[in-house]
Amino acid sequence: KENSARENNVAKIKVVVRKRPLNKKEVFKEDDIVTVCDDAYLTVHEPKLKVDLTAYVEKHEFCFDAVLDEHVTNDEVYRNTVEPIIPIIFQRTKATCFAYGQTGSGKTYTMQPLPLRAAEDLVRLLRQPVYRNQRFKLWLSYFEIYGGKLFDLLSDRKKLCMREDGRQQVCIVGLQEFEVSDVHIVKEYIERGNAARSTGSTGANEESSRSHAILQLVVKKHPEVKESKRNNNNNINEGNESRSGKVVGKISFIDLAGSERGADTTDNDRQTRIEGAEINKSLLALKECIRALDNDQIHIPFRGSKLTEVLRDSFVGNSRTVMISCISPNAGSCEHTLNTLRYADRVK
Ligand code: ADP
Ligand code: MG
Repeated sequence: KENSARENNVAKIKVVVRKRPLNKKEVFKEDDIVTVCDDAYLTVHEPKLKVDLTAYVEKHEFCFDAVLDEHVTNDEVYRNTVEPIIPIIFQRTKATCFAYGQTGSGKTYTMQPLPLRAAEDLVRLLRQPVYRNQRFKLWLSYFEIYGGKLFDLLSDRKKLCMREDGRQQVCIVGLQEFEVSDVHIVKEYIERGNAARSTGSTGANEESSRSHAILQLVVKKHPEVKESKRNNNNNINEGNESRSGKVVGKISFIDLAGSERGADTTDNDRQTRIEGAEINKSLLALKECIRALDNDQIHIPFRGSKLTEVLRDSFVGNSRTVMISCISPNAGSCEHTLNTLRYADRVK
């Protein structure tokens, strides 16, 4: 593992855990903190009852690449996870950063600022003469996987389909990509995409917890456009321009569906059951792919789900994976927290 794991000093797979602070409701209910962070170690003190109803505590200990407690800022999260990967995006790296955890554990809170910071750093690098002269450009896309189907969050939830070309490159047909030459625009795209996320009758957070949101920042190298040709071709739109470039490297930020949703397979509502089964399938497939990647397996079982199929080209070659497992600190979330930590432990 040691040999393959490090290139440019950036681990191929990094698993970190982030614990959020207690929220007001938990404080009010005196729902105690049962998860204790200590350096890279994490202990869950699970409250249990014996058959005769006497209370006792079962201790579960875990160790990860990093454990980030409730005092860690989003900025520190960025520096611990994504920042080291940024320079190697220009060296043909395909990176993925996942937020995993139950609904309400802090996935969106953690993920939202990351693409902004990454874009900031990528744009700064792009402006360096060495890259500017190579005609590198940064592109952004934002889509969602909901019930096994793809929707473009930046073009009116247009339904998308996926295709593989002869060189096993994944192409999402019709996905809009926007050039990012200034970071301010990234914030706008993120907000626009968030507003377009699945919102059903039951309310925004409820529904978005059943979908995976995928924001990609792609560095492409563009061919030189001859002046005369440009003049004759005024109708180049963003999509075509983006397609003319060759992917150098990319980073995908994935706000996964709430991990507890995978257990919705016995719900009374048929639609909920179908979605639950799809989420369960994709989270299992993701775990298997990361494990295969870690073991340097030739065969990566990416066909297990839409999510892993879409990420296929990020599981081969020069790839980097960061898993941020988000957990709630309170006793009431103990079971979900243990499930999340066991999942993280398996991909480590
Ligand atoms: P998820 O996306 O996993 O469902 P959210 O990111 O929406 O969870 O977080 C749930 C709530 O907890 C939000 O109100 C969010 O602002 C808050 N929260 C999450 N993580 C933190 C944190 N590290 N510090 C402060 N508040 C947080
Ligand atoms: Mg969320």
